[in-house]
Amino acid sequence: MDKTKCLIVGGGPAGLSAAIYTARAGLDTLVLGCAPKIEGDYDIDNYFGFETTISGRDLIERGRRQAARFGADIRCEKVLGIHHGDLGGFKIKSDQNEYQACAVILATGVSRTKPKIPGIADYEGKGVSYCVSCDGYFYKGRPVVVLGEGVFAANQALELLNYTPNVSICTQGKAPTIPAEFLARLESAGVSVTTDTITALSGQPALNSVTFGSTETRAVDGLFIAMGEASSTDFAYTLGVARNGQFLSVDSEMKTNIEGVYAAGDCTGGFLQIAVAVGEGALAAKSAISWLKEKCPKG
Ligand SMILES: Cc1cc2nc3c(=O)[nH]c(=O)nc-3n(C[C@H](O)[C@H](O)[C@H](O)COP(=O)(O)OP(=O)(O)OC[C@H]3O[C@@H](n4cnc5c(N)ncnc54)[C@H](O)[C@@H]3O)c2cc1C
Repeated sequence: MDKTKCLIVGGGPAGLSAAIYTARAGLDTLVLGCAPKIEGDYDIDNYFGFETTISGRDLIERGRRQAARFGADIRCEKVLGIHHGDLGGFKIKSDQNEYQACAVILATGVSRTKPKIPGIADYEGKGVSYCVSCDGYFYKGRPVVVLGEGVFAANQALELLNYTPNVSICTQGKAPTIPAEFLARLESAGVSVTTDTITALSGQPALNSVTFGSTETRAVDGLFIAMGEASSTDFAYTLGVARNGQFLSVDSEMKTNIEGVYAAGDCTGGFLQIAVAVGEGALAAKSAISWLKEKCPKG
């Protein structure tokens, strides 16, 4: 397991801005995140300092080079889960590695959307869950389905096997993007992956069956939502970070309610703009730097 002092999840304006500050302050900084949404041929006209239009791609590439110049290690990896370490700090699992960090800055952009299944909100906490580490235990030996198409869903399904052998994955009509290594692990554990679409949920007072397509109904007690990438909301569940709807709650210094965990950019809500994300990244880094110098001088 690799160790770092400050681990930043997200390689967009907020994450890279934070990395510039933490790395420039001499802190060991690891950024995990691939191309942000804005890294394309989008015209950016309202960001300070560019008198002519700059493309999103150019802006991000410059930010990446700037953070790297101060020593930030930037890797295109998908974070699958973040948990509290047994002896303090945090354990971070990505699709490629595992890390230990003293502090974490969450800069993952806006959270993924929920699936559009009628009545899904009514079953939250009554069969529908967004967090295997929080709720997997309640489904010991019971039939569960993970809804998702990628490596995050695969990881959630593998984690669920600690509680029940009756696990399957349903991609809700999407083409699976689960890497071969994970597919092999799922197959040998007997976890099926189908592209079925869940159309209805039923059961009272809690979920006990799920309808696939227009006819097939199966006994399912737990439906774990893991669509797309793991989001700040997923990390908030496992770390105990307070939320305001789909956004993370932070104070004016971008501190969450959990010591050593900071958040910045679109994942905190508000005015979803590059200038704001960059400013919040700087603030989160400042808070993390002060905290790390006091609480993790050697770690
Ligand atoms: C098409 C478009 C045009 C826009 N135009 C403008 C504009 O002109 N001006 C302006 O100010 N704003 C614009 N915006 C908004 C702006 O892009 C956002 O406000 C800004 O990018 C937010 O930065 P962020 O770092 O918070 O999040 P993002 O830029 O969304 O970056 C999030 C990062 O987190 C990473 N990530 C997410 N989940 C994980 C995970 N599980 N593991 C690892 N990494 C993860 C992503 O890969 C990405 O690197 C535009 C947005 C879009 C989509």
